[in-house]
Amino acid sequence: MTKAPRTVTAILIAAALAAGAAAQTKPPTTREMALLCWQEFGELVPARVRTVLVPFGSLEPHGVIPNGTDSLAPEAMARDIAARVDALIAPTLNYGVTEAMKAYPGAVSIPAAAYAPFAEAVLDGLAANGFKNIIVLNGHGGNTAALNEAATRVANARRVRVLVVNWWTLADDITKAVFKQNGGHAGNNETAYMQAIVPEHIHPERYKPEMATPNPAPSGAYYAVPVQSTILLYEKGQGYPTFDAAQAKEYFRKVNDRVAELVLDTIKKWDLAGVYR
Ligand SMILES: [Zn+2]
Repeated sequence: MTKAPRTVTAILIAAALAAGAAAQTKPPTTREMALLCWQEFGELVPARVRTVLVPFGSLEPHGVIPNGTDSLAPEAMARDIAARVDALIAPTLNYGVTEAMKAYPGAVSIPAAAYAPFAEAVLDGLAANGFKNIIVLNGHGGNTAALNEAATRVANARRVRVLVVNWWTLADDITKAVFKQNGGHAGNNETAYMQAIVPEHIHPERYKPEMATPNPAPSGAYYAVPVQSTILLYEKGQGYPTFDAAQAKEYFRKVNDRVAELVLDTIKKWDLAGVYR
């Protein structure tokens, strides 16, 4: 009569292993750090999740789309790609450096001297929590220099990997393919991306083409503070908003696919090189 107990033991072991495996593979109850309790966060990071997406934005005028565009866009991007890249999402930094646009209603600029150490502390805190791959989804060009510097310091001090993504530049060829022309700040590209997320907050009824100005050409030819327009075309005669819902959806999907691809590919290459594992 040794067979039955052995079967029971085998079943119990199998059940225990299955339960363990389920705990390991069970998806997080949410991917948003701000919604996780500390206990679940502790179970997930770094044992189960090694990557975090952190959106950095700004509060500044954007033609006829929301003042929070630079925060809302990378936040929506993070939500769309988090499962694909198996990452958690850190809370968005909704304020950025926007000195040249602070004259416009509703804009708030954080001076670079205050912004840079704050941004670095955010990245440092994420590294201290055990994330190995910190993906900065930046929505605002005025933040880029400070973010690149913070990324470099935190990566080398904490021995983690940091990627700063400026989505509108990464998507340059997608913009040209979808709209058949170049883009602009609050131009066709950003307006379409926002129309895909918050169509009810896009205001074509307020739009006039004369609200747009091309960027100085050649670059550095002049500098105006406040900027004379909030729609700033990368290239003269191109990048005006189109307000086309179908185009907006297509653009949103293609941009996010490109960002997810970059994140996965960069992590794969870091792993292959064996740097700061
Ligand atoms: Zn913007």
